[in-house]
Amino acid sequence: NLHASIEDKKILKGVNLEIKPGEVHALMGPNGSGKSTLAYVLAGHPRYSVTAGAIEFLGQDITNAKPEERAQQGMFLAFQYPLEIPGVSIANALRLAYNSIAKAQLKCHSRESGNPSLDVPKFRDLLLSKMSELSISADFIGRPLNEGFSGGEKKKAEILQAAVLEPKLLILDETDSGLDVDALRIVADGINRLRRPDRSILLITHYQRILKYVEPDFVHVFVDGRIARSGGKVLAEELEEAGYNPTSSRARPGREGSQR
Ligand code: ADP
Ligand code: MG
Repeated sequence: NLHASIEDKKILKGVNLEIKPGEVHALMGPNGSGKSTLAYVLAGHPRYSVTAGAIEFLGQDITNAKPEERAQQGMFLAFQYPLEIPGVSIANALRLAYNSIAKAQLKCHSRESGNPSLDVPKFRDLLLSKMSELSISADFIGRPLNEGFSGGEKKKAEILQAAVLEPKLLILDETDSGLDVDALRIVADGINRLRRPDRSILLITHYQRILKYVEPDFVHVFVDGRIARSGGKVLAEELEEAGYNPTSSRARPGREGSQR
C-alpha cells in the first residue's frame, strides 16, 4: 500500500507488489505513470516522502532507511538517465562501492557470507572478467564514469555495475530505452546472466521489445501511480498490440488471442 509524494504532489497511490527471490517482474506503463518514482522510492531517494504504506526488504522494514543502507543490504538501482561523474573512473567508483558493501555486510553478519574487500589489482581482475563476460571493451576501465558515453554505453555501464556489486534486488529503470538492436542484445544478455535463484529483478520498461530477450515471470501494468493489472508474459504481448489505452477493446482481459 505504498503511497509517495514529491513536493506535495501525490505520485504513488497504493502500490502493492511482492517480488520473491529468483523472480523477474516486468513493470510496464505509460510515461508519467510513476515507474521511475517507484524505483527512486524503493532506493530511498530523499526528495520523495512516503506518506502511507511500507517497504520491506529481506524481511526488514526499510521504509525509512538511508539509500546507502539499502545498497549495503543488496539493493541496486540502474538509472533511467545515468549521471556523468567526471574525474571518477569506473574502476575507482566501483571498487569503492564494492568495498563499502563488503565492509557493511561483514559488520552485519560477522561471518563469511559476504565478499572480502579487494585491493586495486584484485579488483581490477574482477572488473576485467565481468567486462569480458558482458562484452564490454576493456578500454572502459579507466574512463570517467559515464562521461561522454553514448546512450548504449551508459546502459552497459549500469549492467556492469550491477554485475560487480551482486545485488539481491536489481531494479532496472528503462535500461532498454534508446538502445539499438545490438546494444539491446548485449544489455538483455547481461540481465539474463544476472538472473539467479537468490536474486530478484524489477525490470521497468516502456516497451515490450526487451521482453523478447528477457523472459519475465510476471508482468505488471502501472497506471497513475499504482499497478492496474498483473499477469504472465502474455500480458506484455497483449499490451504490444493494444497499447496502454484501457478503452481499447483488445486490451480487455479474457478476449480471444490473449491465450497465445
Ligand atoms: P515514469 O517513469 O512512469 O515516466 P515518473 O515517475 O518519472 O514516471 O513521473 C511520475 C510523475 O511525477 C509525472 O507526472 C512527473 O511529472 C511527476 N514528477 C516527477 N518529478 C517531479 C518533481 N520534482 N516535482 C513534481 N512532479 C514530479
Ligand atoms: Mg521513468
